[in-house]
Amino acid sequence: MPSGAEQAVLADFADIVKSNEPLAPYTYLRLGGPAEWLIQPRSREELSAVVRRCFQARIPLRVLGSGCNVLVSDEGVRGAVLRLNEPAFTRVEVDGRRVRAGTGAAVLALISEAARHGLAGLEALVGIPGTVGGALRCNAGDRAGDIGQFVRQVEVLDSRGDVQVRERDELRFAYHWSNLDDPVLLAADFDLEADQADAIVKRMRKAWIQRKAAQPLNFQAAGRVFKDPRGLNAAGLIVQAGLAKTRVGGAEISERDANYIVVHPGATSRDVLRLVDLIRSRVEERFQVELELEMTVW
Ligand SMILES: Cc1cc2nc3c(=O)[nH]c(=O)nc-3n(C[C@H](O)[C@H](O)[C@H](O)COP(=O)(O)OP(=O)(O)OC[C@H]3O[C@@H](n4cnc5c(N)ncnc54)[C@H](O)[C@@H]3O)c2cc1C
Repeated sequence: MPSGAEQAVLADFADIVKSNEPLAPYTYLRLGGPAEWLIQPRSREELSAVVRRCFQARIPLRVLGSGCNVLVSDEGVRGAVLRLNEPAFTRVEVDGRRVRAGTGAAVLALISEAARHGLAGLEALVGIPGTVGGALRCNAGDRAGDIGQFVRQVEVLDSRGDVQVRERDELRFAYHWSNLDDPVLLAADFDLEADQADAIVKRMRKAWIQRKAAQPLNFQAAGRVFKDPRGLNAAGLIVQAGLAKTRVGGAEISERDANYIVVHPGATSRDVLRLVDLIRSRVEERFQVELELEMTVW
């Protein structure tokens, strides 16, 4: 269907749709072109209606969290990109040992609210940027633990815009992967353990310091690029392949952790993708290991 017809399909949502909206400001790397439609629903009903309409009109639909794990191509994205940044999607509520978070909430807001109520577990994730939705989709975490282990259930929208509940026993979480592949994740319930607030805060501080010491410097825009291959370490392979600090255009391998690409002013997504290709081919040539992208490229 041509874009003019798509515009008519989305006409009812004029208040919440921006057309040809640059996505770079909404991503961590601040790179990439526009979305054909950027849609920011204000309520669940509005969100359901948008999803239903896009499905009926076969308009491709994506959800953008904080864009920490997404590289938007310079050409931009066809179809609709949803952002769940309105209060209807960012609430965090505590009920006993259970915490419910909208997927648009920041992971940090979820961890802080849990800690404030003396609920432990998620503090190991402190310092991982992004939203609850992005963290669930990618099962954010590291050796100290991942978000998936605390999930009790997840509310999602299917492609018809209907709410479905995915219970613990149907959910699968593995290294940087989950089977939560529904078009929209709405909210999640987490089961946590009671603990002393000061002990939780102490662990939060420790996790924060450890993670920040390993990540690129705060002023640098940087993205984590590859999954660690089984039993191996992507950063180690990149360094051993002689690629430390390699730069292509405005994209450079971080000197703190070679599995991050730092982008300099003037960089483009194409620079990042060319550097990714270079790393992949050099590592494969040298070690016969195929590095798998952790970032999603749009
Ligand atoms: C400096 C830095 C450090 C990092 N450290 C870690 C780390 O230690 N461990 C780790 O695991 N990751 C790490 N990451 C990667 C990243 O932070 C996580 O993957 C994060 O969970 C992504 O969240 P986001 O909101 O930015 O998601 P986005 O990047 O916006 O989206 C990621 C994917 O999730 C989908 N998505 C997001 N929200 C929804 C939703 N509501 N419904 C449906 N789909 C959705 C998107 O469509 C996309 O496919 C790091 C990234 C950076 C930049």
